[in-house]
Amino acid sequence: MLVRVDFNVPLDQGKVRDDARIRAALPTIKALTSQGAQVILASHLGRPKGKPVPDLKMDPVATRLGELLGDPVTKIDQVVGPSVDEAAASMKNGDVILLENLRFEEGEEKNDPSFAKKLAEPVDIFVNDAFGTAHRAHASTAGITDYIPAVAGLLMKKEIEELSRCLESPARPFTAILGGAKVSDKIKVIYRFLQLADYLLIGGGMANTFLAARGYNLGDSLLEKDLLDEAKSIMQESENSRCRLVLPLDLVVAEELKAGSPERVVYPDEIRGAWKVFDIGPETVNNFSTYVERSSMIVWNGPMGVYETPPFNHGTEQLARIIAQCRSHSIVGGGDLVAALEAQGLASKIGFISTGGGATLEFWEGKELPGISVLQDN
Ligand code: ADP
Ligand code: MG
Repeated sequence: MLVRVDFNVPLDQGKVRDDARIRAALPTIKALTSQGAQVILASHLGRPKGKPVPDLKMDPVATRLGELLGDPVTKIDQVVGPSVDEAAASMKNGDVILLENLRFEEGEEKNDPSFAKKLAEPVDIFVNDAFGTAHRAHASTAGITDYIPAVAGLLMKKEIEELSRCLESPARPFTAILGGAKVSDKIKVIYRFLQLADYLLIGGGMANTFLAARGYNLGDSLLEKDLLDEAKSIMQESENSRCRLVLPLDLVVAEELKAGSPERVVYPDEIRGAWKVFDIGPETVNNFSTYVERSSMIVWNGPMGVYETPPFNHGTEQLARIIAQCRSHSIVGGGDLVAALEAQGLASKIGFISTGGGATLEFWEGKELPGISVLQDN
């Protein structure tokens, strides 16, 4: 069988820097091999744009996967073609092989039917465990299902179950926390959570646009001027809904984004000149924690500040600690936020960490994801 996995991991000098996505696929791989399946794994890695890129070969992934499985994994240098057919034909029950980077092939992202057919040829069944790519209709997520039966893997199933929990009868009070850089990336999710949540807490760069819409001068902070009216409508909508929208009370500002640059905590009406907001302040963390502590379900996407540059990671880190300790079920998604929590060693203390970035957001928006709708057990 062919198992589409999401092994799109960060590499560093030819080695896997963070293997969280590989580990997330292990339950499916082990469940299949222990039942005697012959498992051909395929993933994309980075953005080679349809042609081979030496630095984006899957070899480091195969090495790490072999270490995690306790058995070396054979890696094939092709995605489709004679060497794949040969390797597939000589597999024994319980064997695992990994194909070359799917996106070395032009047909992958184009969802080209003839490439999808070739991908399906050596196998009789398709398992999709790559939730992180489920929002893309590519040959290895959608096209292939025209040729062989397709089902969800265990990670895909778990993602769907966990991410659905807040959409269908969430435990209340239900608090949604949104952060990250921009309002524009997340407008639809903001509206969705306004309908679903009891409290919507907004931090990170996107809070700037809301504060500016309230009339504050945000200095030189990241700001989406063209979205001020949208931010106003969102705030208006919250007045008419059950959901309370909560913005930062205080902010951490600095003139320059670099480690050790002098920072100070200010209220929104105190921002002057070239100051830029890089994090939420301590009063905001306290205020957000009162909502977290009275909630039964928490969903969080996007960091509260520029977590990559200390000390502007504090808001995100402190909020994460509070969420890790509270009694409610927490569900966290978003590439940057998850990276921030992993770096702080807090990821294991969160109820569920989604492996998706864009896919998680689109799922919460309520969109039908092409990689899920084609599965027989969707
Ligand atoms: P996620 O991947 O978790 O969904 P986003 O991609 O939306 O999050 O946003 C993450 C980015 O937002 C990070 O690079 C972070 O530095 C940036 N960011 C957060 N707060 C601010 C801020 N106040 N000013 C500028 N950038 C910010
Ligand atoms: Mg991101």
